[in-house]
Amino acid sequence: MEIALIAFFVFLVAWTCYAVTISQGKEEFLCQDCRFNDPEQCLKVERPRAILCTSYRNDKEPVSESEYKR
Ligand code: SF4
Repeated sequence: MEIALIAFFVFLVAWTCYAVTISQGKEEFLCQDCRFNDPEQCLKVERPRAILCTSYRNDKEPVSESEYKR
């Protein structure tokens, strides 16, 4: 039983480290440094507390050429 608890704890720590390293934003929520964090530009229900978002774009990075073509 103790081995299972230790394995679970190790897994939990590893998963937390992995989640922190793949996180896109610098803040607690992605919306805090997303360039679309405005009610007129983003209609997603997750805003302003999105943790995962495929539309996230960092507001400090320049707009890419492919985004201009949209
Ligand atoms: S696009 Fe995603 S990350 Fe950006 S403001 Fe909207 S919900 Fe938040």
